Amino acid sequence: MYRLNSEQQTAVDAAAAIADSVVAEHASKVDEQGRFPIASMRALADGGFYGLLIPEKFGGMQSSLRVLAAVVERIACRCASTAMIYMMHCSGVSCYLADPETFSDVLRDCAAGKHLSTLAFSEKGSRSQFWAPVSKTVAKDDKTILLSAEKSWVTSAGLADGIVSSGGSLDGNGTSVYLVRKEDAGLNISGGWNSLGMRGNQSNPMTFERIELDLSTRLIGSEGKGSDVMLGCALPTFLVCQAAIGIGLAESAFQDAQKHVTATQFQHTGTRLMDLPNIRANLAQMKLETDKARAYLAMTLDKMEDEDADAMIHLLAIKSSSAEAAVAVCDLAMRTCGGAAFSKHLGIERAFRDSRAAIVMAPTTDHLREFVGRLLVGLPLFA
Ligand SMILES: Cc1cc2nc3c(=O)[nH]c(=O)nc-3n(C[C@H](O)[C@H](O)[C@H](O)COP(=O)(O)OP(=O)(O)OC[C@H]3O[C@@H](n4cnc5c(N)ncnc54)[C@H](O)[C@@H]3O)c2cc1C
Repeated sequence: MYRLNSEQQTAVDAAAAIADSVVAEHASKVDEQGRFPIASMRALADGGFYGLLIPEKFGGMQSSLRVLAAVVERIACRCASTAMIYMMHCSGVSCYLADPETFSDVLRDCAAGKHLSTLAFSEKGSRSQFWAPVSKTVAKDDKTILLSAEKSWVTSAGLADGIVSSGGSLDGNGTSVYLVRKEDAGLNISGGWNSLGMRGNQSNPMTFERIELDLSTRLIGSEGKGSDVMLGCALPTFLVCQAAIGIGLAESAFQDAQKHVTATQFQHTGTRLMDLPNIRANLAQMKLETDKARAYLAMTLDKMEDEDADAMIHLLAIKSSSAEAAVAVCDLAMRTCGGAAFSKHLGIERAFRDSRAAIVMAPTTDHLREFVGRLLVGLPLFA
């Protein structure tokens, strides 16, 4: 459905091979032990996938959001935690690409698989309303600022080399976006990560205590214009990838349910689960919902590439529609496979838990419906 040309399909096939081997092999232990999928991320890095969006002149694949969506779906189908970590990385890279010359070394490191990125937008004070950071930056001198913040969730905390972080602007009236590096003094992980789903993410809270940042090398975009970077660079990649994660989760629940009902027998009647019409109807519903979500993402990618006037509405809608579809499909897979799905061996309960994250990840389903509604009645996105 993503309508890839042969070069794009080759890249997706290479990612799928990693997803079906290393990523799949580690997925249940990553979930069970709540550990970061180091081997899976290493395989993606070694395969060049950290550089998927990066221009060839920096050593990257110079590929598109369309290819990224297909790659992320295949990874999420095997391990949603790995897909989420990778999605955060690509969203961070999209911010570096706002100023490729300043961040050329970082882009080269990403393309070489030596730099993992993430986003630190959500703050304890403004919670899911990440576009309104309450953190403070103060000037140390005319070249350097000090950033202090309480970040409520940072995926790959302690593992990401670069943390693309929002902060209040120097004049207190806007937002700026900075590259914070893992080794910067003043960076602390301030809590644990023990979650319902996405258990391998390490999305811990972090505290920034007067982190010293040189504006010439760490400011992304312009001072006080961070919302251009957050909404213009990070958000499209984030929304497309989140939609793809939902589709990957729905696809995995569907495939596991299909396998289970075709293989499982009632010994006393000699019939299989698949012989029940309600079970077949459930499978049909799962397949339909998954394909509908994928088709909607593909249509949105078309509209973005064609710069259609209504592309923004669909971009804002795809994450919530895919997230809701994934939760519904995973729930139906749980019902369809009965008590067998309630236990861990089918893998469906992991998809069921993982699928819930996108609903509450900002922009949440509530925010996105409000944004789409505002656009539909001609209001600006933010009040
Ligand atoms: C697995 C996971 C990984 C994450 N990783 C990252 C990360 O790497 N970087 C990062 O920056 N953040 C990350 N987050 C944080 C995420 O983006 C949200 O900020 C967070 O989930 C919001 O939770 P909260 O309890 O603060 O929500 P709250 O803001 O307290 O929201 C509670 C409820 O109120 C609703 N609500 C809030 N505001 C409005 C509104 N204006 N209109 C209507 N309804 C509203 C919400 O939709 C939600 O249902 C992650 C979250 C999760 C779950």
